Amino acid sequence: MKVFVTGGAGYIGSICVEELLNAGHEVTVFDNLTEGHRSAVDERATFVEGCLGDRQRVQDSVRGSGAEAVMHFAANALVGESMQNPGKYFRNNVAHGLNLVDAAKEAGVRKFVFSSTCATYGPPETVPITEAEPQKPINPYGESKLMFERILRWYRELHGLDFVALRYFNAAGASVRFGEHHRIETHLIPNVLAVALGQREQCEIYGTDYPTPDGTCIRDYIHIIDLAQAHMLALEPGRSGFFNLGNGEGYSVREVIQTCEAVTGRTLTAIEQPRRPGDPPRLVADAAKARRELGWQPRFADLQSIVSSAWDWHRRHPEGYPD
Ligand code: UDP
Repeated sequence: MKVFVTGGAGYIGSICVEELLNAGHEVTVFDNLTEGHRSAVDERATFVEGCLGDRQRVQDSVRGSGAEAVMHFAANALVGESMQNPGKYFRNNVAHGLNLVDAAKEAGVRKFVFSSTCATYGPPETVPITEAEPQKPINPYGESKLMFERILRWYRELHGLDFVALRYFNAAGASVRFGEHHRIETHLIPNVLAVALGQREQCEIYGTDYPTPDGTCIRDYIHIIDLAQAHMLALEPGRSGFFNLGNGEGYSVREVIQTCEAVTGRTLTAIEQPRRPGDPPRLVADAAKARRELGWQPRFADLQSIVSSAWDWHRRHPEGYPD
């Protein structure tokens, strides 16, 4: 299938592109390289450097690629930043994303696969979280993704553009070739591993007074390869709607640091800091719907394998991508 992938030079996008190509799909990557890296784009893909805000370029690129499906990864995705600069999130994630949905509709694309997030739920009433959980985001990042989900729902109803929105919990880990390199790293696992690499003196624990057993936030970490597999399944006919993607196991910040110590064999210094604004205490997925309806079967569900794959990649690429 011909697949048009936005954000294919970013962390999650680059690994999904690799898996798409391995499965025999034909891929065009569209990325403005503000977050992504040119060398993270698999050389088997066609690369277009462009911005989603440029409506004409988006239209021409989608049409020119002959896309039958679109996968939309390009977005700003930091909770903390969204609390400081909400306009950036609504502009890039909603307004600019709309150019892509319009282009997909006009080009007769059959399936739109969207990177959504558990941040659309906000603090849940019931854990583990099913897709029936009310969506009440507590940060502009989650709100922007929810707005986009709603746009997709209307486009399906009114224009017949079919979609799958995958609500990721915490993506982590790496493939052999591609991994996580953000120019400004805010995520827990790479920040902790940077201490193990000797690049940082210590890591931070944001908040130790949450209503959780050890007082730190709990998240559900999912291996990037398992995430990529779900995208592949989403392309199949008859798959449609909203799906949580997580392992159903929650790990606290302290447990993640302990796992990183076990994997790296190093003692890692962590200092306790105040809470980071916008962080819900506990996010754990019930992904039964994805298993049932997509046929999704995660292969690397334990945190140890996830952290090990990240550690292997960071050790081989201590400076990340060259560009
Ligand atoms: N976190 C932390 N120290 C860090 C980075 C993150 O304690 O250096 C916490 C953060 O507050 C959250 C969890 O780890 O509770 C996961 O954060 P991350 O940014 O990795 O992902 P998010 O859940 O925000 O998407």
